[in-house]
Amino acid sequence: MNLQTPVKDSQLLSELGKSLVTGSLSNQQVLSETEKEAPIKILPTANVLKIGGQSFIDRGKAAVFPLIEEIAENLGSHEMILGTGGGTRARHAYSVGVDLGLPTGVLSVLGTFVSMQNARIIYYLLAKHGIPFIEPVQFGQMAHYLKERGAVIFFGMPPYTFWHENPKIGRIPPHRTDTGAYLVSEVFGTKSMIFIKDEEGLYTADPKKDPSAKFIKRISVKELKELDLQDVVVERPVLDFMEIAKNRRSIRIINGLVKGNLTRALNGEDIGTEIYADN
Ligand code: ADP
Ligand code: MG
Repeated sequence: MNLQTPVKDSQLLSELGKSLVTGSLSNQQVLSETEKEAPIKILPTANVLKIGGQSFIDRGKAAVFPLIEEIAENLGSHEMILGTGGGTRARHAYSVGVDLGLPTGVLSVLGTFVSMQNARIIYYLLAKHGIPFIEPVQFGQMAHYLKERGAVIFFGMPPYTFWHENPKIGRIPPHRTDTGAYLVSEVFGTKSMIFIKDEEGLYTADPKKDPSAKFIKRISVKELKELDLQDVVVERPVLDFMEIAKNRRSIRIINGLVKGNLTRALNGEDIGTEIYADN
């Protein structure tokens, strides 16, 4: 036996293995070979719920207490991965940071800690139900917590922190808590991605500023991009990620201020706005 056999000649390697070991990871032909099988769905029975920062938690107990109650009512019926937004405190931190000349990567660190504050708040409010707050390093325990307790709470910001890409316009981190929550649903192949905000869903304009804005019940990412709206209800990078998604090709935006909407969305009812990728 020749113990010197290099790995690349090993009979243990599949055809794909040989081409990845010997080829360049910048070679598009080599990369396309990794496309042949779809990724597994790791948590297909879990639902990711993003609780808005500005649109929800900042509204205080009038908004938050009924939602906490509704989440508790759904424990045992639906597995929930709860992600939190940053909201007004994050925007204030960004404004101070921008004024002081801090770069995007550092603003991203500041935003992460604000969404963490909100995750802690939700944690304390749900503590009596034994729902843990977890950070991305504990995602390895997420499946266990979901099976044992029915829910987990994490902060919505993607954990890029300093390694955040610069936005094309301005300096605010482009991938914030909508995007972080969305990515959890995509990577773990969850059953749904529900954004809990303070409007019925997507409109043709921000309904707070334009009372003539029309409600959009269902729309594809392509159609939405073609509409070229001045403002939208979710972070725009979510739409870009959806176009190249393997698992999470639709999202739902609901008005969490209306009691029962969350339960309806968890039950798969057509509530709020559905945005889907059809490419
Ligand atoms: P979050 O608190 O989850 O971060 P945001 O406040 O960032 O949520 O986004 C939700 C808000 O977006 C809504 O409260 C609404 O006022 C605003 N908005 C802007 N454009 C639209 C639109 N086209 N349709 C609906 N809401 C919109
Ligand atoms: Mg937002």
